[in-house]
Amino acid sequence: MHGHRARRRFGQNFLADPRYVQRIVDAVAPAPGDRIVEIGPGLAALTAALVERAGHVTAIEIDRDLAARLRERFAPEALTLHEADALAFDYATLGNALRVVGNLPYNISSPLLFRLAAHAAQLRDVHVMLQREVVARMVAPAGSADYGRLSVTLQVVFRIERLLLVPPGAFRPVPKVDSAVARLVPLGIDAPAIADRALFDRVVQAAFAQRRKTLRNALFTLCAPETMASAGIDPGARGETLTVADYVRLANTIKATADAASAR
Ligand code: SAM
Repeated sequence: MHGHRARRRFGQNFLADPRYVQRIVDAVAPAPGDRIVEIGPGLAALTAALVERAGHVTAIEIDRDLAARLRERFAPEALTLHEADALAFDYATLGNALRVVGNLPYNISSPLLFRLAAHAAQLRDVHVMLQREVVARMVAPAGSADYGRLSVTLQVVFRIERLLLVPPGAFRPVPKVDSAVARLVPLGIDAPAIADRALFDRVVQAAFAQRRKTLRNALFTLCAPETMASAGIDPGARGETLTVADYVRLANTIKATADAASAR
């Protein structure tokens, strides 16, 4: 692979099939002037095609050797490279209307998606390749086996669709898993209003921490059964049966109840 030894700890499986590069970049449909931010450009399979169509790409790559190669290959006018950890990177420095693209390192995909959700207001859209099962969790509806914290946390800020499946043979080295590409578009003004985002995240996390528990038990430290009932939620239900709208209503009711109590 171009003399580069793939590093497992960085989740390096490089896209090696030009047909899939083409399909992914066609799905992104970059236009000149778009603010493309690529996470993990690696050996530049996607980067080169993105630069060609958008004129310029900002990329975040953690691997020092790959970063050095990228600097050699692309002029600074074509590629702004941040040699950094995408999990710790300050996306606020990149401005607005960002179009994030990435064949993500699968070992960090959930925390990275949570981070992107926190920056949704700055994003125009996100196209990411992930393990197929992770994409299934991202798009899962309430009540389904794949529905969980990832589904709720992302669906409350993004409209998400699965675009295409990519087989292991499209990568080098060949991974053990199937991959899929997802598109996430911020809901913007259509996003439900969450009174306290940190509280919402705590509620969702607790509700799914032990899937077999009823909400009464799972949310024991966060909310009294009466508060749940006043939000129209059955304390005897399990977390996986609540829709995204239910979680928003529940977290907002907990917040309003706490605010009212502290005002007394
Ligand atoms: N985009 C390339 C492609 O499609 O062939 C490479 C994809 S490879 C699955 C993941 C890339 O993300 C690697 O280049 C890896 O070094 C990089 N990476 C891994 N962890 C990272 C992190 N925390 N921050 C930024 N880049 C990371």
